[in-house]
Amino acid sequence: MSHKPYPITQVAEIAGATAYITVPEAVIQTLSYDSRKLSDTEHNLFFALHGRRDGHTYIPDAYRSGVRNFVISDKKIDRQAYPGANFLVVNNPLKALQDLAAYHRRQFTYPVIAITGSNGKTIVKEWLYQLLSPEYTIIRSPKSYNSQIGVPLSVWQMTDDHTLAIIETGISKADEMAALAHIIQPTIGVLTNIGDAHNEGFLTLQDKIAEKLTLFQEADLFIYSPKYLQAYSGKIPGKKQFTWCINAPADLEVIGEEVLENRYRYLRGIYQHNDVQCLVPFADAASVENAVCCWAVMLALGYHPAIPDERLEKLQPVTMRLELKTGINNCSVIDDSYSLDLASLTIALDFLKQQNQHPRRTLILSDIPQAGIKPEELYQQVAHLLESKQVDRLIGVGPQISACAESFPIDKQFYSSTEELLNNWSSLNFSDETILLKGARVFEFEKISKQLIQKVHETVLEINLNALEHNLNYYKSLLHPNVKLMVMVKAFSYGSGSFEIANLLQFNKVDYLAVAFADEGVALRKAGITLPIMVMNAEEAAYDTLIEHRLEPEIYSFRILHDFITILKQKNKTRYPVHLKIDTGMHRLGFMPHEVEALVSILNSSDDVLVKSVFSHLAASEDPVEDEFTQRQVQLFAETTHHIEKGIGYQFLRHIANTSGISRWPEAQLDMVRLGIGLYGIDSSIKQKSPLETVTTLKTSISQIKHIEPGETVGYNRRGKLPEGGKIATVKIGYADGYNRKLGNGVGKMQVNGHIVPTIGSICMDMCMLDITGVHAEEGDEVIVFGESVPVQQLADQLGTIPYEILTGISQRVKRVYYYE
Ligand SMILES: *Cc1c(COP(=O)(O)O)cnc(C)c1O
Repeated sequence: MSHKPYPITQVAEIAGATAYITVPEAVIQTLSYDSRKLSDTEHNLFFALHGRRDGHTYIPDAYRSGVRNFVISDKKIDRQAYPGANFLVVNNPLKALQDLAAYHRRQFTYPVIAITGSNGKTIVKEWLYQLLSPEYTIIRSPKSYNSQIGVPLSVWQMTDDHTLAIIETGISKADEMAALAHIIQPTIGVLTNIGDAHNEGFLTLQDKIAEKLTLFQEADLFIYSPKYLQAYSGKIPGKKQFTWCINAPADLEVIGEEVLENRYRYLRGIYQHNDVQCLVPFADAASVENAVCCWAVMLALGYHPAIPDERLEKLQPVTMRLELKTGINNCSVIDDSYSLDLASLTIALDFLKQQNQHPRRTLILSDIPQAGIKPEELYQQVAHLLESKQVDRLIGVGPQISACAESFPIDKQFYSSTEELLNNWSSLNFSDETILLKGARVFEFEKISKQLIQKVHETVLEINLNALEHNLNYYKSLLHPNVKLMVMVKAFSYGSGSFEIANLLQFNKVDYLAVAFADEGVALRKAGITLPIMVMNAEEAAYDTLIEHRLEPEIYSFRILHDFITILKQKNKTRYPVHLKIDTGMHRLGFMPHEVEALVSILNSSDDVLVKSVFSHLAASEDPVEDEFTQRQVQLFAETTHHIEKGIGYQFLRHIANTSGISRWPEAQLDMVRLGIGLYGIDSSIKQKSPLETVTTLKTSISQIKHIEPGETVGYNRRGKLPEGGKIATVKIGYADGYNRKLGNGVGKMQVNGHIVPTIGSICMDMCMLDITGVHAEEGDEVIVFGESVPVQQLADQLGTIPYEILTGISQRVKRVYYYE
């Protein structure tokens, strides 16, 4: 969200580009590289970066959305096809983006804090923002934008009105930091810690530290803990240093810690020979260390010790998540009221724009504090943003936004406070819309979300949409060029949801979706999914609905083909897309290869149907023991499709590979693949360290804790025995939620406050008990049923089943919560 306009000719010069300029008066204020996430297209400069896909392929999309300025590296782009557009040709568009940001950075003389480290970067950044806001107008990296692309985009937001910048950096391999240092040119450096994360890219710990310190070479002040530089023998950067340490000498030395009420840590320290103290509203070690790091930064900046003492106590937990939840009256709610500024608003609006499930998109927005711009100008910018992100309705809360009501040419209501909005609740008529809640802390939007979000049973299945996208991209990266991707979203997307997942897949431009039954397809259509959808079990009773919603049936027998053609004739439909299923050895559904001749002659006798694809299913693609069989299936499929194609005289898509087919049988990708369980992070053919991320986490909480005397028993039929006595926790999940009864009596394990603990006694319908003897826990604490630390695969092994059954068996009363980090 910039401010200072750069003439395109100046941009060309900074980027060292060969410029093809047709509109010399163009000025640049915003930067983009993703054609799905654009704002202020008139002043936008689009970078065709080389990512998984060549950024040049998105130029037509961006142009259609109104972008007229492009940085490209491919000289062969047909510039004539884009009238009125400017093209800057460079060798490396990413380098051009970074150079432009570096130039922009040099326009400002206020302090710039750069943060790096293995963990805690985002938390320290957000906490410094909370702690320093009373004195400074701060620009900071949105979310965790800390990469080679995220850093320049963060720096680009600096304006004259800010007085401090806080930029987070992350690197995954050697040699990346120099580029970030060039962009940020930090005056103050903060190192949070050094851990084992991302070690792969580095030879030694010493190398890793040296690389991170590159960031601070030119800094005036460097703030760190000597504890993390023990393995480092090189020069410590910075003209001046400020050190902190817990129980070891440093400029700020923490000499005593005390846990209060399980929730606070009271810290005592020595600073300049004086006793200092702080109360940190967190008890875990990582949070305490991050807080001490922030404490050190405040002292290093010259704050009087009384100020951190007063402010650290009020630190708020950092939640970078965007959560999508089910709301009242058939609404969907995106809850993002952790903090509010233009950058995070833009990110949240992009997520809102992805949602197609309701006819209307609504934003509830409070005054934006500390934007560093005059209110009239600020809300004018917001109004443009709302237009480009297709927001239909605005509900403004606060005196400033209310005063700028005129700026918004959309359906709108304004309230001076959250209280006033709540008092007028019924007149807002929330129904069948997607609502984004974006409020600054002081407005306490949690009061609104409490009203909007459906009360949920405390057992939830959390779905990490970043991880899902990561897995999708992993499988895409395995595909040969031009191989299409069908994603199986049957059985409620393997238990993870319906339109929420399909929306994301549509946004990521997969080619096809497949569902098991027509009803599932109808639900997707009603939620705004326009992708082609294949229905695998098309039943005669559903043919009408199928046709009405443009769903494409799998045709697996002569009976089905005959019935479907009859309906098509009644409806006067011709060339209706269908998918033929061939049985190459699975022996479930499908035409047998010897039936193909008869099939072809029916297909040739009319033009009622159009064969969109022909496919088959592998029975054991993941199993090396059956590789010969799989090979025969692939071979038989090739022969059969060849016959069909010769017989009907036109081409269709051929596909046979499921998830493990993609991983293990590159030669079986053919024209399309069908990705299923791999999307959710499970691929039984991957044996070593998995490149996939965990998508689903099933969570519940503790209802009650009890101390059991020796000899007493737990649960039905006294199955749970604690001969020595102990401590148990009753948690809110049972077999009615999909937690199998066979997991009772220690077979199943869950995670409580970092400890893996066994079940005790039989699993009840809605509850079960855990043996938490020796584990610190309180009523209300979160319990992980499965997820990263308790893998679904492990649970499946214990039950003698497969992850598919566990995932699809989680009952519908367990609410699904989707989030983006
Ligand atoms: C479910 C299904 C898939 C996906 O299988 P995964 O093993 O989950 O990848 C592919 N094709 C068909 C026909 C299916 O029914």
